[in-house]
Amino acid sequence: MQLSGWGRYPSSESRLIEPATQGVVSEQLAALRAQSSCLISRGAGRSYGDAALAPVVLTSKHLDNFIALESNQDGSATLRCAAGATLDEILRLIVPRGFFLPVLPGTAHVSVGGAIAADIHGKNHHLDGCFSEHVESLTLLLADGSIRECNRDKDRPLFEATCGGMGLTGIVLDATLRLTRIAGPLIDNRTYIANSLQECLELFAEHAAAPYSVAWIDCLSSGQHLGRSVLFLGEHSQVVPDKKRDRSRRTISVPFTTPGWLLNKHTMNVFNTLYFKRQKMRSEANLMHYQQYFFPLDAIANWNRLYGKNGFIQYQLVLPEMSAAQGLTQILKKVSEAGKGSFLAVLKQLGAANNNPLSFPLAGYTLTLDFKMEKSLLPLLNELDAILTDHGGRLYLAKDARMSEATFKAGYPRWEEFMEIKAAVDPDNLFTSKLAERLGLSA
Ligand SMILES: Cc1cc2nc3c(=O)[nH]c(=O)nc-3n(C[C@H](O)[C@H](O)[C@H](O)COP(=O)(O)OP(=O)(O)OC[C@H]3O[C@@H](n4cnc5c(N)ncnc54)[C@H](O)[C@@H]3O)c2cc1C
Repeated sequence: MQLSGWGRYPSSESRLIEPATQGVVSEQLAALRAQSSCLISRGAGRSYGDAALAPVVLTSKHLDNFIALESNQDGSATLRCAAGATLDEILRLIVPRGFFLPVLPGTAHVSVGGAIAADIHGKNHHLDGCFSEHVESLTLLLADGSIRECNRDKDRPLFEATCGGMGLTGIVLDATLRLTRIAGPLIDNRTYIANSLQECLELFAEHAAAPYSVAWIDCLSSGQHLGRSVLFLGEHSQVVPDKKRDRSRRTISVPFTTPGWLLNKHTMNVFNTLYFKRQKMRSEANLMHYQQYFFPLDAIANWNRLYGKNGFIQYQLVLPEMSAAQGLTQILKKVSEAGKGSFLAVLKQLGAANNNPLSFPLAGYTLTLDFKMEKSLLPLLNELDAILTDHGGRLYLAKDARMSEATFKAGYPRWEEFMEIKAAVDPDNLFTSKLAERLGLSA
């Protein structure tokens, strides 16, 4: 069948294996090993590019059972679940019990296996780090068929390489996650307007203690308004809504792929201007349900169809603190001049890097831009890569569909360390993906 990531670019012909039990996963792996056939794991397919694409793809979507939810005496809790469970399923289980996941991405439809493999980050990375920082332990099926539990005390290098390792060290079967306590499902949101990139960076610095922060940035603005943005700060509210008001919201769906021309410089400019004006007029503080705050895009199912049949590329970069202002200015200028920006441009502050060799975050700022896929896009992205590399930045593997091996290796200097750990557990390179082949992670 034809498979792709969330960006619908690229796509590839793949044999999809959908085991329903861990036993069947092991059997399938043994059969593939006997045929010297490579494979890659797939969770919910929410990575954008080719990270979960290969001729053989093994999905963990049916391995989604909860194994144990344990409360500790200090009020915290842990959840052990199979790797195919999604964050949405987990939140529906734990929020009514007064617990929350410490790190959430911009969609709830991500599996635990995918969250570990990409070592995802959220709006609180500057304070709470990546998803893996809250994983107590994970169980990994290795290429030779053995099953290993690893954590920070046991097999630490393998644990660290697996968190952020994009499925290349083995198949995550299950994981034990640390949960945090909350009073209820509501988030206190405060909104600030920044009329330029500089103002936005100053606001981030001023509110560095805010638990959650994210800015929507108008990437088509230029001149003195380059980088004008709306900063959203959030924290868990102590207000507990009555049951009737605590409803999950309804989802609407994009029923078919819209024509690619619908999104162009003019329509996006209109959208961005209206959105900015609307936020300026809104009240500065309000209470929101966590789904609305963390996952606004999940309210529109299949929104990825809006970019037309050729799909789109999400370009997510991080720049170190020192060079962020200069690098972001150059990148935003290029995007604005090319008139190719999107309405989904997001800026976040990231905290210190962890010790995982391929984790994306480092102390600085991450900018995320969506671009409709078209021929003229690739040369522009190559120019952005050059600016990024010059400023000591890197691109997020979970979003990538096209960077060169040289750009990757410049941005991830610990790639050789990762490959040594991979070679020790997967000497025949059983686990490989289109992404791994493109970036030189499959030799
Ligand atoms: C709307 C949207 C918003 C997003 N926002 C954020 C964000 O704020 N922060 C962020 O960090 N990311 C974000 N992402 C990206 C997403 O969190 C990651 O791509 C994540 O890896 C997707 O998980 P998945 O289950 O869909 O994995 P897939 O896309 O299916 O796979 C992703 C990678 O995980 C590996 N993998 C999956 N399951 C397993 C397993 N069981 N064992 C081993 N490897 C496995 C795959 O091989 C692949 O390399 C967003 C994505 C979308 C669509």
